Amino acid sequence: MAEYKDSGVVGIDVGWEEWVALKQLGLPALKAKVDTGARTSALHAFTIQPFGSEDNPKVRFGIHPIPDRPDFEVYCSASVVDRREVTSSNGQVELRYVIETPITIGGKTWPVQMTLTNRENMAFKMLLGRQAMEEDVAGEVVSVRPDAANLQGELSYDLYKTLKKAKPISRPLHIAILTREPNNYSSQRMKEAAEARGHTVALVDTKRCYLNIQSHAPEVHYDGAPLPAFDAVIPRIGASLTFYGMAVMRQFEAMGAYCVNTAAAIGASRDKLQAHQLLALHRIPMPTTAFANLPKDTDSLIELVGGAPLVVKLLQSTQGRGVVLGETKKAAEAVIGAFQGLDANFLVQEFVKEAAGEDLRCFVIGKRVVASMIRKGEEGEYRSNLHRGGAAKAVRITKAEREVAVKAAKVMGLRVAGVDILRTNDGPAVLEVNSSPGLEGIEKASKKNVADLIVDHIENNVRPVVGKLTTSRRKKP
Ligand code: ADP
Ligand code: MG
Repeated sequence: MAEYKDSGVVGIDVGWEEWVALKQLGLPALKAKVDTGARTSALHAFTIQPFGSEDNPKVRFGIHPIPDRPDFEVYCSASVVDRREVTSSNGQVELRYVIETPITIGGKTWPVQMTLTNRENMAFKMLLGRQAMEEDVAGEVVSVRPDAANLQGELSYDLYKTLKKAKPISRPLHIAILTREPNNYSSQRMKEAAEARGHTVALVDTKRCYLNIQSHAPEVHYDGAPLPAFDAVIPRIGASLTFYGMAVMRQFEAMGAYCVNTAAAIGASRDKLQAHQLLALHRIPMPTTAFANLPKDTDSLIELVGGAPLVVKLLQSTQGRGVVLGETKKAAEAVIGAFQGLDANFLVQEFVKEAAGEDLRCFVIGKRVVASMIRKGEEGEYRSNLHRGGAAKAVRITKAEREVAVKAAKVMGLRVAGVDILRTNDGPAVLEVNSSPGLEGIEKASKKNVADLIVDHIENNVRPVVGKLTTSRRKKP
């Protein structure tokens, strides 16, 4: 380096090996071998999966950046600039993806093209070829000094530890929306919002997925081929497909995708009884609720919730369809008797008259209510469901309502949730927590870009790193 400075030329000296960083790929420290025998640089990659469109192809791949640590994986993605036939040192011809990404060596950063190939058993996870060191590429003279090493300083693999907690590097993500209705407002809005941020979205029909659960590497199959490993999956599972949808989600979880809502959380919120029990366990206010099985319990059941008027709800009710108001004790007994006769599971709940056919929908993402609306049922209707002709408008919610909504989503384990709250004389009471809340009503009423906020949440939670990096490594026997 000194030589160039003296002669007024700025340049970089590299030895036969150097520490490099590929920050855009989320790789803060890699040891690269300088290989002037090769023109193009090469990067180690496994499970290389193309995605994106024909005019904007991308590739997702995993890398073990640390030699001897095959358990430590980082997932990367990048735009593909070319596909090229490369002859490796052992004479084999391989068609490789070529990506372009900035490289940092010492204090300098410049864009470099590299091919992706499996270098699993190689000591160096990266080879730095001639093209990367050409002056018009590097912007400076790069001199190779094959007798020296690490002329540009040393980096540490400890840098990967902070990566685990840091906001992930913005990279194109491969996201799946699991839905039976790819064309509905919610699916389309989330797809739009993700694509606007440079991500690729696959709309996956839940019913057409089939699972390979025997193999060591779990897979979800679709139309005769395995689906790729997605960075994130957004489940939009309707009530009629809860059971199967949960199985599909478990498979995606096993494949390492960030699942916006997990199968377990979806299950807990779908089962109205379990949901009420969980809310009660965590002291979240709700209308007084009771559950029974035997006909002879009817009287005390009605007693428990304070007598008529009361509400009887089928456990699998959605869109207000299985919710019946028993205005008098006689009417309540008749409804309960009828449901029992059908062997249906239901719960009985105090009727909150003062809510006057209105309820609050709080849209929770992570630890925040990002949008809210108040829904009012049609004239003479106590059920405010939009599907039943209810109307929605924007509303300012109170601090107490906000806190109750966030807590309800949290105890259910849902990261994206629609929490329905009744305004009672004693403050907010949670009615239900929805794991696939619709976007149309809430976006229109609140004028918030909820879809974009969901994508933002995904970007903040997809973790590029798998495995734990500890400083004290176990010694090999
Ligand atoms: P679903 O899952 O079918 O939507 P909900 O429990 O959300 O069932 O009830 C539907 C609607 O009925 C609610 O949005 C609310 O407006 C009204 N409602 C439900 N429970 C009560 C209650 N205990 N008191 C007053 N209104 C209620
Ligand atoms: Mg409801």
